Amino acid sequence: VIARHPLSGEPVIVAPERASRPHAPEVCPFCPGNESMTPPTLASTGEPWQVRAFANKYPFTDRHEVIVETRDHDRQFSAIEQPAEVVAMYVERFREMRDVTCRVLFKNHGGLSGASIAHMHAQLAGTDFVPPRVAREQAGFASGCPLCKVNTLTIDESEHFVRFAPAASSFMYEQWIVPRRHVANLDAITDAEIADLGETLQRASRGIEAISPAYNWLFMNFRDPGHWYIQAMPRLVTVAGFELATGTWIDVIEPAAAAARLRT
Ligand SMILES: [Zn+2]
Ligand SMILES: [Zn+2]
Repeated sequence: VIARHPLSGEPVIVAPERASRPHAPEVCPFCPGNESMTPPTLASTGEPWQVRAFANKYPFTDRHEVIVETRDHDRQFSAIEQPAEVVAMYVERFREMRDVTCRVLFKNHGGLSGASIAHMHAQLAGTDFVPPRVAREQAGFASGCPLCKVNTLTIDESEHFVRFAPAASSFMYEQWIVPRRHVANLDAITDAEIADLGETLQRASRGIEAISPAYNWLFMNFRDPGHWYIQAMPRLVTVAGFELATGTWIDVIEPAAAAARLRT
């Protein structure tokens, strides 16, 4: 159910069934052997499976999926053997959900990120409205593409992606991964870009994991004209009152210092 803020008109998802979601369950439903604890497999790779997608048991939208990225309960992203397979699964599920208004792909890992299960996974949620942040950023492409120009504090570059610390970071040690090719969303990603992105995310996660065990990855996808990107940040602090009251973030690490640390 969608409720609307009486002043801004911004949507709020009301999902009381989420309240019954177990936090840090004793038996991990994402571990091999426990597949019956989750809804049935929608897609998987390998035999036995290495990456597995299924509907979220406690959805907050009509379309809400989980992608488990490794069989190993304690594995970090930097240590997985098939990062490209994981990215390919993100893309497959994203494309499969193309009939919704907005597809939101994200990853919560570790306590401060909002994750309730420790076993590494990503989520894909489809909404039937355009979320306010997506709408605001989409409007930024109306007169040319800022992301085709921004490239100041580079962390590293690959054939298909640039990784940098944005001047306007919302969180300390934030980094953005931007494809060199100006395309609006993951529908247009190529196999070569998928392979490159797997390695790029692995390098990004090495930097993040060295700073905090908790982090978020947000895949920001748009409609044409737009340029998709990933916002990745370690989570070291919770979101506080000023940010909640204003929507304005306070970054306590200079982006140049963040880029220098993330480069090492
Ligand atoms: Zn597990
Ligand atoms: Zn662009």
